[in-house]
Amino acid sequence: MCGNMPHSTAMKGIIQDLNSEQIKALVAEYGQPAFRAAQLYEGLTRGKDISQITTLPAAFKERLLRDYEDCAVRIREVFTGADGTKKFLFELADGNLIEGVLMQYKYGNTQCVSTQVGCRMGCKFCASTLGGLVRNLTPGEILSQILKVNALCGGTREKRAVTNVVLMGSGEPFDNYDGVVTFLKNLVSPEGLNISPRNISLSTCGLVDKMYKFAQEGIPLNLTVSLHATTDTERARTMPIANKWSIAEILQACDNYFAKTGRRYIFEYSLIEGENCDRRHAEELVALLKGRPCHVNLIRLNEVKERTLKATDEKSAYRFLGMLERGGLSATLRRQIGSDIGGACGQLRASYLKSGAKDG
Ligand code: SAH
Repeated sequence: MCGNMPHSTAMKGIIQDLNSEQIKALVAEYGQPAFRAAQLYEGLTRGKDISQITTLPAAFKERLLRDYEDCAVRIREVFTGADGTKKFLFELADGNLIEGVLMQYKYGNTQCVSTQVGCRMGCKFCASTLGGLVRNLTPGEILSQILKVNALCGGTREKRAVTNVVLMGSGEPFDNYDGVVTFLKNLVSPEGLNISPRNISLSTCGLVDKMYKFAQEGIPLNLTVSLHATTDTERARTMPIANKWSIAEILQACDNYFAKTGRRYIFEYSLIEGENCDRRHAEELVALLKGRPCHVNLIRLNEVKERTLKATDEKSAYRFLGMLERGGLSATLRRQIGSDIGGACGQLRASYLKSGAKDG
């Protein structure tokens, strides 16, 4: 099945959902010569809308536009922070808003993408989940966030401005499992942007069944799990998913991932004052993780104004890091990037929805 049916929402199809083989099938179906497929796929990979691909004849583009959205994802606003971090507000063809970030590091540029509009996981510290889940993004809508930012930043297919990708924007990637896996396959495809799985990180709140399934997909990316607590009871206070899967089950699934892929896994641990970062927590974290092929990413909570939880202060954060390191864990305290431009997931979209800007 070449997947060239229009998408099942009110929208037309998203042409960026298709891989190069499916584009070839589509071009043949429309009775166009085969070389048009390469032109179309090339244009899309360069971040162009269908109407902007100048190599294609107008009649063919008109035909495509009957079935497919011209622009899957439009960059509606760009905010640049003092540290060079760029925050993007994207608009989808149906008017929904999502957000993303491009962070500059010495080794390249990392883009954080969203996988859903909203989220239904209900984590107490997160702004993405405030209005619940609106809908899954299609594979092409996830990919288009990267295609658009790459093009905006002067990147091409051969020389990418986006070198690394993290699935840490709004949404739970494994709650949109099929969409995310198709997106990843298209992202790593040599005909497409050709980003190595080593340069991709996927963050999950710990959907254990999907962690096992994903280990079989043959996409050995950096698997990251949001832990944020050391006992199931405490974890359930901020993360409802803890009522479904235990930390012990998460650790088993991580071990399986390592056994299947050879990739070390990562834990995200956001430091929340009075909640998860005193000496006892450090000791429990060491007891849980010592000797495992993993790394712990600490980050001070990004305070979300709709939520009451507070970030731990910087000194306590470094003290916590020191305790983990002395306990023998590999750990880092991530600097808060772009906090001057609403760095935390979902903050930008939440503020837009609140101000009514979506309709304005
Ligand atoms: N749903 C996925 C990925 C999205 S969030 C997940 O849960 O992993 C990416 C990371 O940011 C997760 O570790 C999430 O727990 C964390 N996060 C969300 N809101 C945050 C906030 N306000 N401060 C710090 N980290 C936050």
